[in-house]
Amino acid sequence: MHPTLKTALDTFGAYAQTVVAIEELSELQKELCKAIRTGIGDPENRDHIAEEIADVYIMLEQMEALFDVSEDVPLYRIAKIDRLGKRLKENAK
Ligand SMILES: [Mg+2]
Repeated sequence: MHPTLKTALDTFGAYAQTVVAIEELSELQKELCKAIRTGIGDPENRDHIAEEIADVYIMLEQMEALFDVSEDVPLYRIAKIDRLGKRLKENAK
């Protein structure tokens, strides 16, 4: 975990940072909805989405630490990508 994010979690606490994580997820949702509404290729949407994705990654790193799942998440990620790949291969038949 990035040391600044560890300090943020220690300083602001589990409750506050969990609320911020939920807020940041909502902000990304809003930008994605806006992109669908106004145009996926709009460069302004691109910048806003990049910023909100960065915010979400920052908060997800803290949530991984808070819930002590940093070692589990990559395993789930690999398994889920593998499952998706198998589904795509099945669909291609
Ligand atoms: Mg944000």
